[in-house]
Amino acid sequence: MPGRRAVVLLSGGLDSATAFAVARAEGFDCYALSFDYGQRHDRELESARRVAAALGAKEHLVLRLDLRAIGGSALTADIPVPKGRSGEAIGTGIPVTYVPARNTIFLSHALAWAEVLESQDIFIGANVQDSSGYPDCRPEYIEAFERMANLATKAGVEGRTRLRIHAPLISLTKGQIVRRGVELGVDFALTWSCYEPEPDGRACGLCDSCLLRRKGFAEAGLRDPVPAAH
Ligand SMILES: [Zn+2]
Repeated sequence: MPGRRAVVLLSGGLDSATAFAVARAEGFDCYALSFDYGQRHDRELESARRVAAALGAKEHLVLRLDLRAIGGSALTADIPVPKGRSGEAIGTGIPVTYVPARNTIFLSHALAWAEVLESQDIFIGANVQDSSGYPDCRPEYIEAFERMANLATKAGVEGRTRLRIHAPLISLTKGQIVRRGVELGVDFALTWSCYEPEPDGRACGLCDSCLLRRKGFAEAGLRDPVPAAH
């Protein structure tokens, strides 16, 4: 008998890899969904492929979306990626690495695929504790999307399914996420967090995403298997 299916948003970073491992540990057959959206580098998509394979995704779908045509973010336009910010600065305001409506765009595609797969469950690695202040990572956003999902789909309206958006990391710190991932068998050497890799391919160690990753490994008392240049 086939298992329950879950669609898991997989960016290739440590949060989404851990969210995938949580879904797997809860007994779901995981269908990984990634986006080639015009981000600055395709290193994270390579990581997403390796993580999906290592964690046993039933399928891994990489959708192409040209968010660079919309722009408006340091990740999708020619806007410099902030480097070397303090923890306080990272925790304040919404930075230029925010991609307009990204999680709504991603979750909408996940919702469509879930309906086709007859899946009732979508996993996203969003978290607010140690995040960059992105508004679409807050619990009230996740709850609102879940309500919308049940109004927006044939499966929801016909009452055949009750769609759930799982954000199992939403209130965890980066350190807790790293520990949880290790417990669940995530190989963090396969993951990628850096927004702007060095010319030699190493993580920069200075962008917000690198700094949050470093904080997570430090809090967990572990060494990051992915070396950074700075
Ligand atoms: Zn970086």
